[in-house]
Amino acid sequence: MKHLRFMVAAAAAVIGSLLLSVPAHAAPAPAPVAADDPWNGQIFLTFDDGPGGTYTDEILAVLEANNAKATFFQLGQNAQRDPARSRAVLAAGHALGNHSWDHPDMTTLTRAQMDSQIGRTQTLLESFGAEVNCFRPPYGAHNTTVNQAITGAGLQRQMWNEDTKDWSRPGVDAIVNVLLGATPGDVVLMHDGGGDRSQTVEALEIALPQLAAKGYTFGITPKCSPAP
Ligand SMILES: [Zn+2]
Repeated sequence: MKHLRFMVAAAAAVIGSLLLSVPAHAAPAPAPVAADDPWNGQIFLTFDDGPGGTYTDEILAVLEANNAKATFFQLGQNAQRDPARSRAVLAAGHALGNHSWDHPDMTTLTRAQMDSQIGRTQTLLESFGAEVNCFRPPYGAHNTTVNQAITGAGLQRQMWNEDTKDWSRPGVDAIVNVLLGATPGDVVLMHDGGGDRSQTVEALEIALPQLAAKGYTFGITPKCSPAP
């Protein structure tokens, strides 16, 4: 009996050490995507305010590593400054969206100024060969006149419903937590431009494999997708 008790204790110790060895960010067990999911398991990652230098490169790398496609809402002035990176995003199979020329609150502009913000950016992005079908107003600020300017340019307004608040650099874990809460059909707001985006990059490296392990995939939003 003494020997048996020793065996039980030894087995318990082994099991305990196995449990302790599971990393904190271990992927949950894969769950099949629901058969009635109209989004076919897709989450829509979006990146604003770029191109944003090497952060854009790093985001492209983590997207590629996870077989992910995304939508990049670029600023005309940034794309003009760095057309090679703008083209690199496009060449990697992602969609470009129009995010205005220099990030004004569109609701403070005249209609002519709105048209200029949208039109200049549209012309530049299209000169890279992009089919740009959507506009995201800076700060999400819009009203009836902004909406008319968007539709007048032949574009659709693309908002978001999951905000990582990555622009405020809330910490990698905070960004990861929002990402891990995403479910198919969600449009997730992130940024590749406008400042230090190292937290965004690190959070994507952690979260995308875990979301993929749930059976989710990452695509271009329907409004922004180029025509088939
Ligand atoms: Zn923005």
